Amino acid sequence: MPTRAEIEAMDRNDPLAPFRDEFTLPPGVIYLNGNSLGPMPTKAATRATEAAAQEWGEGLIRSWNSAGWYTAPRRLGDRLAGLLGADTGEMVVTDATGLNQFKAVAAACALRPDRRVIVMEGSNFPTNNYMVQGLTAFLGQGHEIRFVEKDAIADAIRDDVAVVALTHVHYKTAHILDMDAITTKAHAVGALTVWDLCHSAGAIPVDLNAAKADFAVGCTYKYLNGGPGSPAFIFAARRHHDAMRQPLSGWWSHAAPFAFDRDFQPAEGIARMMTGTQPILSLQVAEAGIDIAARADKHLARAKSRAMGDLFIALLEERCAGHGFRLDSPRDGNERGGHVALAHAQGYPIMKALIEAGVIGDFRAPDTLRFGFSPLYLTYGQVADAVDILAGIMERGIWREDRFQSRDAVT
Ligand SMILES: *Cc1c(COP(=O)(O)O)cnc(C)c1O
Repeated sequence: MPTRAEIEAMDRNDPLAPFRDEFTLPPGVIYLNGNSLGPMPTKAATRATEAAAQEWGEGLIRSWNSAGWYTAPRRLGDRLAGLLGADTGEMVVTDATGLNQFKAVAAACALRPDRRVIVMEGSNFPTNNYMVQGLTAFLGQGHEIRFVEKDAIADAIRDDVAVVALTHVHYKTAHILDMDAITTKAHAVGALTVWDLCHSAGAIPVDLNAAKADFAVGCTYKYLNGGPGSPAFIFAARRHHDAMRQPLSGWWSHAAPFAFDRDFQPAEGIARMMTGTQPILSLQVAEAGIDIAARADKHLARAKSRAMGDLFIALLEERCAGHGFRLDSPRDGNERGGHVALAHAQGYPIMKALIEAGVIGDFRAPDTLRFGFSPLYLTYGQVADAVDILAGIMERGIWREDRFQSRDAVT
């Protein structure tokens, strides 16, 4: 178990420490929820003011050209591409993750017209399931979702499968699926893959093209620190660009949006995965966080995040033994993404008490506490402090107090 002095030395020797200065975090807070909503890059506040006051206020409609509004989805997509192992022109930042999932799965199904099975993990974040359930009902062609859990995925990928639509890092447990092996298996039976990278982008290295992934989606407001509700990304491998079609064909996915033709003609390339006018202020602000993630060394970031998770687990098991916590994430850091999940029957009031004490994590029903270890602004010292504060809450039974028992709308 590292001593306090050793933990302080880890912070002094941390090559990523300078990134901390690029974020604005409130004093007195240990923010362990960057896996849900990343904190604000200082530059995001400046960009928000510029985008509103100058680009909108003064530039008015001219800013579609002069401030790069129209090209923002592609510009941000290209900025993100390097981080995720995509090529220039294979990714755009647009719409929400759920919408992108709908478009990507629809496009993949259309590329496999003689097959009807979509493989998904039932315990995935619900919107992924709901969107594909909505899609299959709407298609009305008898598509069926084959829900399986992680250990049964390989067996479920048989030659009736059109699409394997999985989330790379599990939103609750942080378990990492083997993107290379699953994609290889899918291709071997003639299926396509749609990878959700919501909990991967900015947390663990991803190489979409090395894995030969077909499509991918993910959000920018988690480890990419894009801001609340910032637009998501969508990737399509270049080999699919000519044949792929998605059903939400709006004017931004048209070959010539400003020709105002009556009939739809798909744009060349990734642009055909777009739909219509984007939340430009949000995109301009998101660029600040995406830019930070693109500059950070992804292997150093991964190593630090994993080390913080390991430290948290080790300290927790020492300091909070006998208090009813169960580790719900893989203990092996190689199988675990950026956060650590603990199960506890009283998870909700414990998390509320922790948040009041300045340690912000989150709670996922029925009994999961999640702690995110984002590498670019946290210190090892804060990880140790967080465990000390949690131990204090457990030892003194603070979570039993009345004010921690009622549920808020967002947990
Ligand atoms: C966060 C998250 C989403 C969010 O979807 P929205 O469309 O932004 O609401 C979707 N899927 C997964 C796996 C997530 O972790």
